[in-house]
Parts: sequence; structure tokens; C-alpha cells
Amino acid sequence: MHSSVQENLATVKQKLRDYEIRYHRPINSVSLLAVTKHQPIEKITAAIEANQFEFGENYLQEALPKIEYFADKNIIWHFIGPIQSNKTKKIAECFSWVHTVSDSKIAQRLNDQRPADLPELNICIQVNVSEEDTKSGINLSEIENLAKFCITLPRLKLRGLMTIPAPTDNLASARAELHKLQIAYGSLIKKGFPLDTLSMGMTDDMEAAVAEKSTIVRIGTAIFGARI
Ligand SMILES: *Cc1c(COP(=O)(O)O)cnc(C)c1O
Repeated sequence: MHSSVQENLATVKQKLRDYEIRYHRPINSVSLLAVTKHQPIEKITAAIEANQFEFGENYLQEALPKIEYFADKNIIWHFIGPIQSNKTKKIAECFSWVHTVSDSKIAQRLNDQRPADLPELNICIQVNVSEEDTKSGINLSEIENLAKFCITLPRLKLRGLMTIPAPTDNLASARAELHKLQIAYGSLIKKGFPLDTLSMGMTDDMEAAVAEKSTIVRIGTAIFGARI
């Protein structure tokens, strides 16, 4: 029914493998998060049938019925949208990952609301590499302080950094933006933070992201088509 989803998934995975070779990354070092915001259940079903098990959602109200619908499927759900403080409880209960932590109050709430019978909630700190006022995320200079705070929270596991750069259709300028996050990530690791996740790369900057050492790309349009 949605054979296009399965073909697109195969194409995206092949591109990831090609870019890994082109940019001297270990094979399979970049994992694929399928972003399903504004996409229907049928397309998610098609992706699951093609062995995709990690999905990203931006809006809690939209995500909850999908999470419930696929409750018996062992899906790993990643929250990748802006977080309002009145949504943290459900996010802490229903997701395995949150990529968009950008302040200590939200981190504290997610920690306090993570149910005791679940594993630690995996988090990434969202960074605004373009430092535009309109983008969410903290500035590069603020990362270390927030990282220090997050690692004190026992119910959170700080895994790494995430960014949504300003759009550009030029590979070199996309790489220059993402390079800033790679440098910040490397310097945290040098300081002893045990990180393993660099969440960057969307449909239009996937190649730049693999070149700049992303470990997980978040792809929506290239897999599922335009959002409805
Ligand atoms: C929508 C979204 C994506 C996927 O974007 P595409 O361009 O459709 O691949 C990735 N990350 C975040 C945070 C998003 O909001």
C-alpha cells in the first residue's frame, strides 16, 4: 500500500552507507530516526514492516495516539519538538529519548517525572548553532553548564547534543554550521562527559551531517513525503 515509504527508506539507508564511505565514517555508524510528525498511521506501519523501529515526533498531542496504537511493536520513540513545561510529565512517561532539552528547569522536571520502573530517559541538549533569535536551543557558550547540571540528574542520561541549523542549499555552508556542534561535542568528551550521540541531519542536510560526524540523522520528508 505504501510501497513508496519502503522504497524511500531503502534509498535513504543506501545514501547513509554511501556517505559513510565517502566521508571515512565506520559503516553503520550513523543511525536513522524516522520523523513522523504530520504523517498518518499507515505510513508508520509501512516503515515498521520495513524494520524501522526508531521514530521521532514533535507534538505530544499528536504523538500519544500513535504511541498507543503501536504499543505492542517495541518502537523506540524520540521526542524532538519544543517542550512546554506542562507537557514534561507525559513526555517523561511515554518517550525513550528527548532531543530538545535546552534549559535546566525542563531537565529537572523530566528527571522528577520519569517513572521509577522505566530506564533513565536519554536526552540530548539542543544547541542553536546559528545563534538566530528565532531558533530554539541554547548558545554554544552555555552548553557546558547545562551538561554539568544534567549529569547530576539520576533519572536522565545525557547522551549528547542536537541541532537544527539555519537552512542552506550549499554543502559547504551546511557543513560549517554543523562543524560547530561537532567541535562542541568533541570538547565535552575531552572534558570527560560520557557522550555518544550527535543528533544532526535532516532531509536537506543529511550529507553535511554525515560528513560532520553525526551519529543519528532525523529524516522525515525523504522517507514519508510532504507532510499533510
Ligand atoms: C521535522 C523535523 C525533522 C525532519 O525534517 P525533514 O526535513 O522532513 O527530514 C527533523 N528534526 C526535527 C527537529 C524536525 O522538527
